[in-house]
Order: sequence, then structure tokens, then C-alpha cells
Amino acid sequence: MLITNEQLKSLILKNGLIDEIGFSKIEEEAKNAGYTISETLVEKDIISDENLGILISDFLKYPFIILAKITISPDVFNIIPERMARRKKVIPFAKDATGVKLAMTDPSNKELIQMISKKIGLPATTYLATEQDISNALKIYREDLQDTFDQLIKSSEIPMSKIVDLLINYASQDKASDVHIEPQEKDSLVRFRIDGILHDVLSLPKSLHDQIITRIKILSRLRTDEHLSPQDGKMRVALEDEEIDIRVSILPVTEGEKAVLRLLSSKFRKFSLVDLGMNEKDLKKVTTAYGKSYGMILSTGPTGSGKTTSIYAIVKLLNTREKNITTIEDPAEYRIKGVNQINVNTKTNLTFANGLRSILRQDPNIIFVGEIRDSETAGIAVNASLTGHLVLSTLHTNDAATALPRLIDMNVEPFLVASTVNVIIAQRLVRKICEICRSTRTITKEDLLRNLPSEIINNYIGEKTTITIYQGNGCKICNATGYLGRIGVFEVLEVTKNIRDLITKRNDADVILQKAIEEGMTTMLDDGLEKVLKGLTTIEEVLRVTKIQNK
Ligand SMILES: [Zn+2]
Repeated sequence: MLITNEQLKSLILKNGLIDEIGFSKIEEEAKNAGYTISETLVEKDIISDENLGILISDFLKYPFIILAKITISPDVFNIIPERMARRKKVIPFAKDATGVKLAMTDPSNKELIQMISKKIGLPATTYLATEQDISNALKIYREDLQDTFDQLIKSSEIPMSKIVDLLINYASQDKASDVHIEPQEKDSLVRFRIDGILHDVLSLPKSLHDQIITRIKILSRLRTDEHLSPQDGKMRVALEDEEIDIRVSILPVTEGEKAVLRLLSSKFRKFSLVDLGMNEKDLKKVTTAYGKSYGMILSTGPTGSGKTTSIYAIVKLLNTREKNITTIEDPAEYRIKGVNQINVNTKTNLTFANGLRSILRQDPNIIFVGEIRDSETAGIAVNASLTGHLVLSTLHTNDAATALPRLIDMNVEPFLVASTVNVIIAQRLVRKICEICRSTRTITKEDLLRNLPSEIINNYIGEKTTITIYQGNGCKICNATGYLGRIGVFEVLEVTKNIRDLITKRNDADVILQKAIEEGMTTMLDDGLEKVLKGLTTIEEVLRVTKIQNK
């Protein structure tokens, strides 16, 4: 531990980030959830990872470095072998005749510094870097995936277990959510889904395909002699720094069997609404809504829009010992300590509706229903939120306003919808521009008019004829895509008195949307364009996910 909890506490209090009571709450939450206080401070948005690093380095009088913002050449980082860099969380980032500069999560580790210094015969200066920053930067060590596999396959006895392990390791390092292994006519194609987009990453000889599938079936305890029916399973794989749960799906297709592995990494557990990109104004509306002990908070969007992740972020904020939180999901995507999570199981007739009924007998305070997709579930959820429970759920609608008539379509009385729903979040995920290779570009108003209605453009750039926007040129860190990570674009509809009146009178979504905008709501498109101007994403990304039509 670099600094003691007492030191950390006085630092945080001295900087006025929270008060004494706030800090004890953080301490208790950290203890309950089994995280460190630093992790909890970042997770609860008290301070960003980077600013916490700066604060600590200031206090300890170590210089601070942000590796994400510099380029490190191979002859510098290769001073230390990858394995050691990974284990000891240290990366050499600069070197000249006078010495080498090391980024470390613990620059007080004298033994390690001496060892490195002795090995290279140069003095070493140490810099503090955050753990997150170092873990991202470790990617520079990576060999090309195809090269690695071509080498492996050349050996006379191909180690099948190693091939599958390597695939999962690479996928995890790339922060891929899914690995697809597809039989083609002539070869086997491996693709990773990264930031929501599928990338071809590897082509293997067709002769290996069946062996890889068999290995995956063995690991997930599926039948290896069954080739004609779909099979679902689970496996757990130990990686260098974590154990990862993987959901496996095997499907027979024309050319053989296709496998999709869904990586349920606990590394993704650090999400908060601020990290997800929610702006202050929207955050305030959501905070007010979850501060109530009853009513409903709905999150909407298509599959893959991150709507469940936002609900998880709220559940984690609400997760204290004095509250009983129960979820029913299909299935639970992340495990949250201290929360009772139930999986829907159609085989045992444990549906959303049946599960919800049982949960209500367990004296819950907060209930998360994975999705409302039928009138039975809608009815029970609304009733629960009327009788002193805070109910969180997701709906499959395109925008926030549409969720209200959708509930009425599911046979919920309009006055019940009006009196229970507190707030509706609608969202999409856009890819973030890679900060390492980001550059600026000037575009004209005419360019913008080709894609967007003039009233929206005038709102944003006013009388200007050109504006500066950003793009990623592609580099090693972002696999030459120009994008790294994702961020949400949001609209948050607060059910105010005026909106309640409109719902009760069975107005359609358009009327509700107009009133909400009148009352100051910004749409996903507005929020997306705001993020374009800030250099977080591109217009192409915002248009891709909001699919605005030319007017
Ligand atoms: Zn890049």
C-alpha cells in the first residue's frame, strides 16, 4: 500500500471532496464490497482515477506520469520483459545516457528499482502512474496475433489447450466482449467484438476448427459427440490477473459448428453513470429519482445499447447493507456483492413475472427486473412500485418518451403509469476517439447540413461557417481503428406534472417528447453532438447509433 487509509482520508477531506460522514460511508461500502477505499472513491465518482493519482503523487512527492498521453518506443519498453512488467506493474517509458524513467503503481519499491537499474547499468528515476493507466499501456508488448498463431501451428504437435487459452487471453487484453469462432468454406475465422463492433482477428486452418470446438466443449462440459443441435454452457478460465467466467454457445451452421464465447470479465465492474458519459444535468435527474424509496426508473434502448449497464451503475450506488436489493435477470451479466441475483429459468417456470412475485414476499427495498416485456410483468412491477418499493427495469424502446405509451399498451392504466414512473433513461453507445492518435479537422457548415437538420446545426454552431472536430488517425493502441472504448449518449426524461397530465390523457410519444424538450430535456442526438464538440466521439458514430433521417 502506497499510502495509509488515514493519509488518504486526510487528503480527500483537505481537498474538500467529501466530508467526514461521506468518507465513513465510503469506508463502509468499500468494506462491504471487498474493494479498496481508492477503488470505491473512483467508483462512486468522488474523484477520477487520474486526479486521485495526481493527489497521491503530490502528497508523496513523486512525479506523476500519464502513459496514455505519450508514445513509448520498443527499445525503451523492452528493457523489461513483458511478464515482469505485468507482474510488477512497472513500465519503462523514457531512456537516455543519464538513466531510465520508470512508471510504477508503487514507486517506493526500492528493491525492484535497484534490480532494474542493476540489470541495465543505468540509474532509474521513478514516476507514479495509476493502475488503470499501466494496465492499458501494457498492450505495447503484444505480438501480432496472427504471427503468434502461425508459429504455434508450425509445431509438430499442436497444443490445442494452448490455442484456446491464448485466444481468450488476447480477447481479454483487447477488452473484447465476445469471441466468435466461425467455420468457413476454407478456413476457420476468429472474430472479436470490441466496443460493440466485430473485427476479424485471425484465420486458422480449417483442419483445426473441429479440434478447437471440441476443446471448448470439454471446458464447458458440453457433449462432444453432439454436432447437430445447439448447445449452451459455461466455463471459467484463469488468466494472468483474474479468473474469468465465459458463457458458451455452440450452433450448427452450414460449414460446421460455430462457437460464440461471451466474456463476463469482472474488470468491467468499474462503471458509474459519470464513467458511462452521463452529463451533469441528466445525472441530477437520475439522482433525484433513485433518492426516492418508491416508483420506477426505466432504462430503454435496443440490445447492446448499454441500458442494463446503466441500471447496474444505479444498483451499485444504492447497494448498502441496510437495503435489501433483489434482481431477476435473464441472465445476470455481472455479479454484485451483497445483492441477491436470480436468473430467469423457463425450464422451471421461473419467469420474470413468477420471480417477481416471489421476490415481493422477501421484503425487498429495491428490485431490478431485467426486462419488462409482457403485461403480466408490467402489472406486477407497477404494483410493487406503488407499494413502497423502488423498481428498476429496462424496456426495449427506441427513445425515452416511447416507453410511456408502451407500458399503456401492456395494459397498465395510464394513471398508474403517470403516478409510478419517476424517470426514463434512453441511451446508445458510441465509440470513443482514441486519445493517443487524436487529431483535429475543420469541417464546414455545408458538410454538416448534408447529414443533419439545419435547426439542430444552428443550435450548435450558430453563425459560424466552420467548426473544429476530432478524429483518431489509428495507432497500435487502438488497433488502427482510431477508436478506443465506448461512451454513452443519453436522454433522460423526468416525469413532471405536465408530463403526468399528458400520460393520463393518453397522448402519444411525440406529444410527450415535445413537452419534455420544452421543459429542457436534451435528446440523445443533442448529447451526442455535444460529445463530438468535446472531442470524445465523431459525427459518424453519433449518426450511426441515432440513425437520424435527412430532413
Ligand atoms: Zn489510436
